Amino acid sequence: MGSYDGAEVCELVGLFILHDLCNEYGKDNIGLYRDDGLAIFKHTSGPQAERIRKDVTRRFKTHGLNITIQTNLKIVNYLDVTFDLTNSTYCPYRKPNDHPQYINTKSNHPPNIIKQIPASISRRISDNSSNEDAFNKAKPVYNSALKASGYTETLTYNKDKQPARPRRNRQRNIIWYNPPFSKNVKANVSRTFLKLISKHFPKQHKYHSLFNKNNVKVSYSCMDNMKSIINKHNKKETNANNDTNTDNQVQCNCRNKDQCPLDNKCLTSSVIYNAQVTTNNATKNYIGLTEGTFKQRFSQHKATFKHRKYTNSTELSKYIWKLRDNNQDSNIKWTIISRARPYNNISKRCDLCLTEKLMIITANPDRILNKRSELISKCRHENKFYLRNN
Ligand SMILES: [Zn+2]
Ligand SMILES: [Zn+2]
Repeated sequence: MGSYDGAEVCELVGLFILHDLCNEYGKDNIGLYRDDGLAIFKHTSGPQAERIRKDVTRRFKTHGLNITIQTNLKIVNYLDVTFDLTNSTYCPYRKPNDHPQYINTKSNHPPNIIKQIPASISRRISDNSSNEDAFNKAKPVYNSALKASGYTETLTYNKDKQPARPRRNRQRNIIWYNPPFSKNVKANVSRTFLKLISKHFPKQHKYHSLFNKNNVKVSYSCMDNMKSIINKHNKKETNANNDTNTDNQVQCNCRNKDQCPLDNKCLTSSVIYNAQVTTNNATKNYIGLTEGTFKQRFSQHKATFKHRKYTNSTELSKYIWKLRDNNQDSNIKWTIISRARPYNNISKRCDLCLTEKLMIITANPDRILNKRSELISKCRHENKFYLRNN
C-alpha cells in the first residue's frame, strides 16, 4: 500500500479473496471496499461466529495475508457510516480525529465547484442518515466546517432520497474542453470557446454534426495548488543540481571523438533531435525523439540505412533509400533541438512527445520529412508503467 497503484492492487487482491469467501458464505452477506470488509450473518451463535472468524483468517493466511476481524457486533462503523442493527438505523460516522475541511469560498476554483459544495455535503450526509433525527445530530460539525470556509449556506435534510437512478446508457461521443480556471483571467473562456464552435461550424457546415453544442462541452479544470507548485519547484531545483553533475561525467563515448555524430554530446538522453539531410538540390529535416541516449537512437537509425529490409521503419530511412535508389549523394547533420522530460505517472504527461509535436508543427512544411499523422500518435513512454507490460 501507499504506492501509486496501491489502491488498484488492493482491489484486485480483494476481489480475488471476496470471490473465494462468497462461494462459501453467499455473495449477499459480504462486502468489501478496498481494505475494509463488512459481513452479516443472521441466526448465528457466538461460537459459530468465532468459527467463521477463524475460517476467514485461515483463508487469508493461505495467501500470506493477515486480517483483523471483530465479531458479534450489533453496531459497526464502516467507512463513513455507523450501522446499528439494534434499532435498524444508520448515521454518518467520522473517525475521532477527522475534522472535515472544505475548499474556501475565496479559493481560486471554478465558481461552479464552490457553489456545489454545500449541496453535495447535504446530499452525502442525508444519504448516510436513516432519518432526519440522525441527520440533525450529525450536521453541526459540518455546518461549522462550512462556516469556517466562508459559506453562508447550512445543510438541509434531503428527504426524497432516491436510489441511484438507472443511468441511460446511450453512447454519445462528447468532446470535452478542459481549460484551467484562474481568477486572474477576466475573459470568459468557456463562453468564447462555445461561440467559436457555433461560428465556425454553423448548421450548414459539413462537420456540424461532429462539432455542436451537444457534443462539445466545456468544463474548467483546476490549476495546481500551492503545495504542488512548491513541490514541483523543489524537484526542478534538485534535478538541476543532478544535471550539472552529469554534465561533468562522460557525454560522449565515441572511440574517435572527431567522428561523434553530435559534437561530443552523443550520450545526452531525453532529447528531440533534428536530422538535416542535404543533397545537391534539396535540404530536408526529420524530427525525432528518444527517451534513452541519443547514441542508442542514432545506431538504430544507422541500421535502417544499412539494411534494405528496414526501409519503411521511419520517414527518414524511406527518404535515404529513395535518394540512394536515385543515385543521389546525401549528407546528414544531427542536432539536438530540445530536451524535455519523458512521461511519468505522477504528472501523467509526456513533455517529450508534446515538444516533438510542437517542433513538427512549427517546422517549415516544405522541408519536413515527418508525416502530419505523427501529430496524433500516442505516447509510447507511458507503456512501461502499465502492469500488463511488466
Ligand atoms: Zn560521441
Ligand atoms: Zn511520450
